Amino acid sequence: MTTTTYLWTPPPVYSLPVRGKTERLPINRLFFVGRNYHAHAVEMGKPVDKSVERPFYFTKSPQTLVESGATVAYPPETKNYHHEMELVLAIGAPGFRVAQETAHELIYGYACGLDMTRRDLQLVARDKGRPWDLGKDVEESSVVSEIVPMQGQVLDRGELAMTVNGQPRQKSDLDKLIWNIREIIADLSLFYHLQPGDLIFTGTPEGVGALQPGDRIEGGVAGVGEITLTIGPAE
Ligand code: MN
Repeated sequence: MTTTTYLWTPPPVYSLPVRGKTERLPINRLFFVGRNYHAHAVEMGKPVDKSVERPFYFTKSPQTLVESGATVAYPPETKNYHHEMELVLAIGAPGFRVAQETAHELIYGYACGLDMTRRDLQLVARDKGRPWDLGKDVEESSVVSEIVPMQGQVLDRGELAMTVNGQPRQKSDLDKLIWNIREIIADLSLFYHLQPGDLIFTGTPEGVGALQPGDRIEGGVAGVGEITLTIGPAE
């Protein structure tokens, strides 16, 4: 019998706490739905016509994951670091080419999330037809609360809101999602073999905006939970 050895200590398994459990949820991949609320698509200057468009996605590496309550550095190479408050869906069962009617079988639970974004770099990339990675795949930019187990439950309404230093910034409702939970699971599973531990950030509503060092974000999704984040000094 041989034992695998490594040149250096392998990277950790990224994971999140689960409400009511001692076991943590191990993370596989981080998927993000782009432009999934009409008012946000309009504020970004890219309205969505669902009758002729499909949802689109980007990914971030699990190494960007940060737990709610953290203080993160204001990241390098940006002058316009934005918050995007989102509902996060945790996949708990494998699925490929899943029908909308059975999509709920993949749902493990939900969390509150922040898709932190270097908006200046994202917009340059978007307008030049370049990848979004430098704008989106930012270290410490995928902020997630504890996972709330809600196996098989489809969330189709519930207020989503957040403040910065106590001032309201984003407020909407899950019933305004352009592509709903069933549609997202079914569509994303056409491209990927979804796996337990995949997280899907379902998109942000209007009211995204810039942050400064020292700012404190408090947000929540009704029926799910709450999330906080503090922006520390620039690195
Ligand atoms: Mn987003």
